[in-house]
Amino acid sequence: MQQKIPKLGARNTRQRTAVIKVLRDFDNFASAKDIYNALQVKEAKVGLTTVYRTLQSLSEIDAVDALHMPSGETLYRHCDSLHHHHHLVCIRCGRTEEVDGGPIEEWAKSISEQHGFELTGHDAEIFGVCGSCQTKLKTAPKS
Ligand SMILES: [Zn+2]
Ligand SMILES: [Zn+2]
Ligand SMILES: [Zn+2]
Repeated sequence: MQQKIPKLGARNTRQRTAVIKVLRDFDNFASAKDIYNALQVKEAKVGLTTVYRTLQSLSEIDAVDALHMPSGETLYRHCDSLHHHHHLVCIRCGRTEEVDGGPIEEWAKSISEQHGFELTGHDAEIFGVCGSCQTKLKTAPKS
């Protein structure tokens, strides 16, 4: 598993390693607060500000994925695939599928060329309700 910690900078390595370790235990995207709470139980005492800062720097080097929710909150996840991908996120349970960008990849390239931009990156997340949540919604009594 050791090889799955990517591109760790020399600075603050201890915090970064601890944060990534904890993130691996989350199957879904987690908030900085969730990660902070898990750290208190499992690893070292790391301050909330440090957790925020560490997550931010890890996402800058693409060591973790950041998800910007419509609510304005940023959630984090350590993804299985190290190659470029997108996320399909269930808004009810938070279940996340890693998906290919498909036509988005070509579109991002061509649209930035059309406008004379040099493409540096793009972001596209898909939100929905997963199959099991749909089932639950249908069987749950209306209140
Ligand atoms: Zn991801
Ligand atoms: Zn769901
Ligand atoms: Zn993409």
